[in-house]
Amino acid sequence: MNETDAVRGATLRARAEIDLAALRANVRSLRAHAPGAAFMAVVKADGYGHGAVPCARAAVEAGATWLGTATPQEALALRAPGAGVPDDVRVMCWLWTPGGPWREAIEADLDVSVSGLWALEEVTAAARLAGRPARVHLKADTGLGRGGCMPGDWAELIAGALRAEADGLLHVVGLWSHLACADEPGHPSIEAQLTRFREMVARAEQQGIDPEVRHIANSAATLTLPESHFDLVRSGIALYGVSPSPEIGTPADFGLRQVMTLTASLALVKHAPGGEGIGYGHHYVTPGATTLGLVPLGYADGIPRHASSAGPVLVEGKWRTVAGRIAMDQFTVDLGGDEPRAGAEAVLFGPGDRGEPTVKDWAQAAGTIGYEIVTRIGTRVPRVHVNAMP
Ligand SMILES: *Cc1c(COP(=O)(O)O)cnc(C)c1O
Repeated sequence: MNETDAVRGATLRARAEIDLAALRANVRSLRAHAPGAAFMAVVKADGYGHGAVPCARAAVEAGATWLGTATPQEALALRAPGAGVPDDVRVMCWLWTPGGPWREAIEADLDVSVSGLWALEEVTAAARLAGRPARVHLKADTGLGRGGCMPGDWAELIAGALRAEADGLLHVVGLWSHLACADEPGHPSIEAQLTRFREMVARAEQQGIDPEVRHIANSAATLTLPESHFDLVRSGIALYGVSPSPEIGTPADFGLRQVMTLTASLALVKHAPGGEGIGYGHHYVTPGATTLGLVPLGYADGIPRHASSAGPVLVEGKWRTVAGRIAMDQFTVDLGGDEPRAGAEAVLFGPGDRGEPTVKDWAQAAGTIGYEIVTRIGTRVPRVHVNAMP
């Protein structure tokens, strides 16, 4: 078997089709929600499981001028030769741990985030070695309690950054923060965080910082909180056409379309009598004579085991439910007497046009959020990117 046959075989088992035209249209919809702000496409975690590089390129084609990642390694990959990301697109990463790689980041013209003095010391030392200034975004903790500088430590961080700027070791290009409850419209923390952000920005500017961009909005805030847009919005999940939360609304409410369609080919279809125990633990027992379909995807592919006996699958136009436990590589559905052929398509989720379940349905079935469903789809599932621009 040559390599092409191997790839084709893998794609026959299961595939995640990634509709880049939908992604481009989502970027345009999101930009229309924040017309006064620049747009950052967040492509961390391999583009939320959709493939970081093709998604980054498509987002840029649709007007994103910034790309965002969590780790520096993810950001460096976007600057690699062959990634096809134009040099004038800003690439920012925010999840740093002592040791860097600060110097590589500076040399690759990445924008980096600094939340505390240890990072300021390391980035200035690296800038000295690189012989060029770092582009730094100072992060404020306005009430998420995760990364970011607490208000009580802010003046000291700003003073340190100003000294490094005076020494030519960095430019403070951004002041930024992140929201805790933007996906719960009306949550009192939203206003409190925006107020604190304005205060911390004002204090930094009074001390002498002159940033290019101030930014705090994620997808939910981009869609629902115009007062949070400032100079730049950072959108992740909505880019992929998944709503940040059911409370925010459906993708269609915002002109978004789900980008990933996850399908598999039934590996086996067979008759079974009533009273037959199905899968590990026999958590499903056939209620009567029926037919069973074997779906060759499991928790090693990111299909959540918590969706056992709950996850929906479309087979020949009908919703079927996972029968019993999801195993590492496979699960069974009760086909209720229907007899599709082995190889028939099982749609786990898609945009919904064909009546198939969506990412939201799997999130509900597993008691989690859509973010976790898409980001966990495993490397064993080939991504097939369609509708790329020529
Ligand atoms: C992941 C992330 C985002 C994007 O969040 P979404 O809810 O997916 O839009 C924005 N900013 C930061 C700091 C993040 O970590």
